[in-house]
Amino acid sequence: MDRDARLDPPDAPEHDDAGTEPREFTASADPPSAVETTDPTNTSDNDPPMREDRTVRLAVVEDDDEVGDALVEVLTDNGFIPERQTRGADLLLWHRRYDAVILDLGLPDGDGLDVLRQLREVSKVPVVILTARDDERTVVRGLRNGADDFIVKPPRLDELVARLEAVTRRAVTQLGPVATEVVTGDVRVDLIAREVEVGGELVFLTQKEFELVRILVERPGSAVSRELLMDRVWGDAFLAVSRSLDVHISTLRQKLGRPGLIATIRGYGYRWGK
Ligand code: CA
Repeated sequence: MDRDARLDPPDAPEHDDAGTEPREFTASADPPSAVETTDPTNTSDNDPPMREDRTVRLAVVEDDDEVGDALVEVLTDNGFIPERQTRGADLLLWHRRYDAVILDLGLPDGDGLDVLRQLREVSKVPVVILTARDDERTVVRGLRNGADDFIVKPPRLDELVARLEAVTRRAVTQLGPVATEVVTGDVRVDLIAREVEVGGELVFLTQKEFELVRILVERPGSAVSRELLMDRVWGDAFLAVSRSLDVHISTLRQKLGRPGLIATIRGYGYRWGK
């Protein structure tokens, strides 16, 4: 098997990569045990590991082992901390571990574009699509569904690294100053002290109730999706925590005693303030 043939994933045999000269994009000769990959399904501890400063943790969502292992090797050599994921569902479960995502579109559990759309309901993590599909419609759909960049396989590796650096740099510069207090009418949310005052009186909120308030007041007057709230407060938008969200919102409304402060957006989520 020649090198270029190994770069094309089996789900896209029609792709023509003539004219490109990828740099050292061959699968590792090391045994699989030598390749740094993580299988979160085997992990008993569901907490993401502590993240070190100034390192970029990358999810490499790629079901093809040869392509995936080669990517992990090259990205490690370039100072990234890549982890293989082979299914879209695993990315949706583990996305909070990562600073950026490389996303294949032909995945065993569905279309990467659908995965991207679901991811965008809960996360702004930079996503670079890496796929053999190079038709304009797919590129446009990818970018409109929230991809930060789109690269056609086989990637030119210096370019891939440069593009990853660019999207992660943009993500960092987009983080604006952090608000410390949000005042809506006579309701004051102190984000540092984690306190809420209504009409000058402190209201006792549980941890989860305060988290819901904190997320809602990040964008006062804007609708926040149920998925985003569930993902950030319960850590999973795609399991059965929907009922818990309803219960917590209901309790929160009673405690705050300000009808209309948390508005229900039917079929979508909630909004803080008018
Ligand atoms: Ca694939």
